[in-house]
Amino acid sequence: MICSLYLLVGETHAQNIDSLIASMTLSEKVGQMAQVDLGVLWEGETCNPKDGKVKLNEDKLRKAITEYKIGSVLNCGCGTGTHSKEEWRQWIGEIQAVAQRSGVLPILYGVDAIHGATYLQHSTLFPQQLGQAATWNPDLVHMGAAVAAYETRASGIPWNFSPVLDVARQPLWSRFFETYGSDPYLCKTMGVAAVQGYQNFSKEIAGTQFNGTQVSGDISSYNVAACLKHFMGYSAPFSGKDRTPAYFTERDLREMFLPPFEAAIRAGAKSIMVNSGEISGIPVHANYRLLTEILRNELGFKGVVVTDWEDIYKLHANHRVAKDYREAVKMSIMAGIDMSMIPNDFQFIDILISLVKDGEIPESRIDQSVRRILQMKKELGLFAEPMGLPATQFSDAFSSRFNQKALETALQSITLLNNEGILPLKSGTKAVVCGPAAHSLSLISGAWTHSWLGRDEALAKKYGLGKTVADACSEFGKGISWLFPEKQNPMSLKSTRVSKSLMKDVKKSDVVVICLGEEPGTEIPGNTESLELDGAQRDYVMKIAAMGKKIVLVCFFNRPLIITDLDSVVQAVVYAYLPSDFGPEALAKTLVGINNPSGKLPFTYPRSSGSVVQHDRKHTEDFHVDFSTNAYRPLYDFGYGLSYTQFSHSPLTLNGEFKGVNDTVWAEWKVTNTGKMDGYEVAQLYFRDEFASITPSVMHLTGFKKVWIPAGKSAVIRLPITPKMLSFVAEDLKRTTEAGDFSFWTNNPAIQRKKINTTFKF
Ligand code: BGC
Repeated sequence: MICSLYLLVGETHAQNIDSLIASMTLSEKVGQMAQVDLGVLWEGETCNPKDGKVKLNEDKLRKAITEYKIGSVLNCGCGTGTHSKEEWRQWIGEIQAVAQRSGVLPILYGVDAIHGATYLQHSTLFPQQLGQAATWNPDLVHMGAAVAAYETRASGIPWNFSPVLDVARQPLWSRFFETYGSDPYLCKTMGVAAVQGYQNFSKEIAGTQFNGTQVSGDISSYNVAACLKHFMGYSAPFSGKDRTPAYFTERDLREMFLPPFEAAIRAGAKSIMVNSGEISGIPVHANYRLLTEILRNELGFKGVVVTDWEDIYKLHANHRVAKDYREAVKMSIMAGIDMSMIPNDFQFIDILISLVKDGEIPESRIDQSVRRILQMKKELGLFAEPMGLPATQFSDAFSSRFNQKALETALQSITLLNNEGILPLKSGTKAVVCGPAAHSLSLISGAWTHSWLGRDEALAKKYGLGKTVADACSEFGKGISWLFPEKQNPMSLKSTRVSKSLMKDVKKSDVVVICLGEEPGTEIPGNTESLELDGAQRDYVMKIAAMGKKIVLVCFFNRPLIITDLDSVVQAVVYAYLPSDFGPEALAKTLVGINNPSGKLPFTYPRSSGSVVQHDRKHTEDFHVDFSTNAYRPLYDFGYGLSYTQFSHSPLTLNGEFKGVNDTVWAEWKVTNTGKMDGYEVAQLYFRDEFASITPSVMHLTGFKKVWIPAGKSAVIRLPITPKMLSFVAEDLKRTTEAGDFSFWTNNPAIQRKKINTTFKF
């Protein structure tokens, strides 16, 4: 039976998934819903391969595949390392071969290639998502995803757990840097660009090789299935700590957290990963309302819903809504889960089989999930060729063409927050480059870089580009006399201190470029007690400032650490995010003016840790202690970022009327580069609903466009506004645009009013 199953698929290319399912046994079907970590299959302990080397173990492969018939494998053993594409292909090839020999359907391999191929040696690494968002350039996000897809597929992996579509409303949260920032419109725009880059064929990336080499499937052999995560409301835990409770009404969820997921589902995303946390007492993995009523019935999502790491078991062990694992499995499957990232044992499979046999879960519910999983395997072409195209068909992996895209993204992400006439550095300047991030590779890349936590400097050096900020300043910072008193040793953050040699060089210099960092981290290990910058780095800057030198502060942070007091003693602040391998070159070119910075903050930079207020705040959040409405005083505002040139924005004109639901009003204005240097500007369009039945926000972003404008020239910006774009989620949970007055403005704060006479429901 089992053997004929594989043949059936092979012969028909799984044209008919339903007849395939009808021919499968219960254990074959439940196996499809199970995903284990690679560490379960190797010799040695799960997170610790024998002798530190990955070698798959025959008995373990037999148990997982032949006996348990698992449908999916992920990652590289608790995120422990980075491997060559040949190694990946060898292991996945072995796994697929065992499946084929045992008559088990092809295995769906998934990985976190979240800013490029995370666990692939020498991969083209892009800035982390937050830096990508700071470019305000969806084309670059699209390209980054297409490159990541190509290199991931080069290693035989067709499924990527990316992008993160969580809207980052809580800056303490350890995964802030993994998001596209704090604005739902920006997250939605970038999310759609990423999904299309991952899933849709891009000629520019795959090139002419594509012709004639496609194995069957709806997703090209150079693309991967995207996985939107983490559905939904994950990014704003009340305490700021990862996987701790959040408190939202369904209205809040729909207003803030649903839009990026909804847009990415409409863009065709193939899979979704679930939020590990709880919302108002209900763990999302057990939430039928979110996972079935909203996601399936309302949004019509047809793809695969996978749990996050061990999250079914955690319904029992951590959330304690299930008295045992069995109850947890029942709860989550009936809530709408298709696949369990188990990931380290097989109990889930035994339990689910027995739940069906005992009549507690109908087999038809299992069939639903298996149909979705097999459909995705089919669309990825796995039934025709489980390994995809041969390695030789991926000659562009790691190419300079790809590197160029990552560099461009890093260049456009750099955000200049403060510049008291010091940047770009003048030719002949004597500049010291120092600080813990100046000689470090891990601090500039963060987690998910050659290992889960990205803390291993040696791995980053060996398998990344190996270029630090100091290296890049020497190579690309022409015309400057650079001094690197701290030499090559990456400092530990806690022991950051001003050494004698540093003081000596600072004395000789005109400018000091201080590179600060934050220990790489994500998820629970990335939790922090405070948004304050650590004392050691703060004192370091203050000591150098006390020497009376001009300072350029460069921040490589996971989240917006408070730098308010430093900001007032330095002469320039550059926010670099976690730009990864090409960040140093981008920074060096920015410091010397080869690159005109064009990044804009994708979040609001708080002035103090107790005053975390977002740009799209409510009016009452503006009240100050003196009863004025001046309380919103972030250190730097959402959408802010300086350039080496100046731009002026003409007053906005609004053309058209909102008479019917399909009417478009065009927002038009002229942007002029009034300075002396060519550069990019990000034209931004905001609105507010003046009065509404749910307290309106002070502002919402509703459109933007990044334009290159040569010095002295202008560009006309034209952005559409439809009634739906002005809607909010009303008390009846429906998107609504109420009749009334709306105000619009751009980078130019002059307001234009427009009236809407009828209320629209969507
Ligand atoms: C993370 C996910 C990730 C998964 C697999 C989880 O702990 O929350 O974002 O995709 O692990 O590595």
